[in-house]
Formats: sequence, C-alpha cells, structure tokens
Amino acid sequence: MSSWHTVTLSGSSQVIPPVCPNCLAPADVQVETEHRFLNTTYTQTFLYCKDCAKAAADLPSIFFWGILGLVVGFVPALLFVFVVFPKLPESLKDSSLSGAFPLLALAVCAVGFPLLRRLSFKKSHPKTGKQAVQGPAAYYTGPGDALGLGDSSSYKAARPEWISELVRRNQDQADPATRHLWTGAPPAKP
Ligand SMILES: [Zn+2]
Repeated sequence: MSSWHTVTLSGSSQVIPPVCPNCLAPADVQVETEHRFLNTTYTQTFLYCKDCAKAAADLPSIFFWGILGLVVGFVPALLFVFVVFPKLPESLKDSSLSGAFPLLALAVCAVGFPLLRRLSFKKSHPKTGKQAVQGPAAYYTGPGDALGLGDSSSYKAARPEWISELVRRNQDQADPATRHLWTGAPPAKP
C-alpha cells in the first residue's frame, strides 16, 4: 500500500464523494470499510460502483483469519504434546525439532490461514483493467490527533483522483495548502 495517497481534513465528519474509489465510475453502493491500526478499528462507509462494491465488501480480515488459524493450530500442537510426544523414543524427545513442533504448528496456521484466504479472495474477485486494487480502495485511518492536528480525519486511497474529489467536496475542511495540492485552488496568500 506504499503508493497509496493520504490526506487529513479538519472536523470529524466529511462528505464522501459518490465516485468509486477503485475505478472512478459514478458510485451509489454503500460499503462499510474497517481500518485496523494496532488495537483500534476505524470504520467508515464509502460509495462504490456496483462492479467494485462486492470485492470491497468481501475482503477477508487478516486479523480474523489469523486468530482462527491460531485457534485451529492448537489442535495439532496439543495432539503432538499429549499424544505423539510421550510415544517418541528418548533420542527424538531431546531433539530441538520436537520442542519446536507445537510452536511451528501454531505459526504455520496463524500465517497460513489468512494467506490462503486472501489468495482465494484474489482468485474469486479478479481485478478488472479499470480497477486500481482488489478489495477496498479507500480507508478512513482515524483522527489526525496524534499528529497534533486537533479535531481532524485522515483518509487514504489507492487513487489520487478520489482524494481530489474528497477534498473538493469538503473544501472548508481543508487547509489552504491541502486545497492547493489536491484541487489546484490558488495557494494561500502569505
Ligand atoms: Zn468501481
């Protein structure tokens, strides 16, 4: 996501443009999108075109599938500890692989589950030529308070055109530099 574009606007509520953040077509399908940062989840409803809405709504959560993988991974880990391990010959019991196996099983499941789920998602929602990404193309990333900007809201999007549209529709919430950068409005007078 390194090439995504970000913007911070003042205030806690913005007009969301009726433009698909993924393909820039007119948009009227509401998709609630979650952005997780550490232990906080920020939710915002964006407008997508019909074609892009489904993939945006269906993106599997890495967090959810990681936790599920961890839970499922306990089965082979516990089986090994309580069933297999006691039956191993002494020489194998001492090997570091025996000690590492339960942890390995947990790690493989915790990483493998979300990975496989995302792969199957990518297969079932192939990206069309006009789409920028597979899945959500815009996120609300939370208040900009941490940056010392006071009451504000930050967004990131795959397409700069969508950010421009967001700023254009919330001009009074953009500082002059942001307005100039994203909408080509005249720069602030010194
Ligand atoms: Zn679209």
